Amino acid sequence: MIKLLLLALLFFLGYSFFQALFPTQSKKDKNKANRSNSGEQMVQDPQCGTYLPLSEAISANIRGQQHYFCSRKCRTQFKKNA
Ligand SMILES: [Zn+2]
Repeated sequence: MIKLLLLALLFFLGYSFFQALFPTQSKKDKNKANRSNSGEQMVQDPQCGTYLPLSEAISANIRGQQHYFCSRKCRTQFKKNA
């Protein structure tokens, strides 16, 4: 019977030790909330100077650099001038 009590005590100590090593998740949740606040990234069309959201931009890789355009017309013109 004493053996069983000792075992329970050891188990309890081990459990407390484990919890001290790995704290609760409250910190993780705070980080998540901060990240969701950021808005969408805006990019500038180098041809006409218009700002537009990255998801609506037409991307093109010109001379190893990534550029974003509001329309295909701007992209074609920019490529001509480059
Ligand atoms: Zn444009």
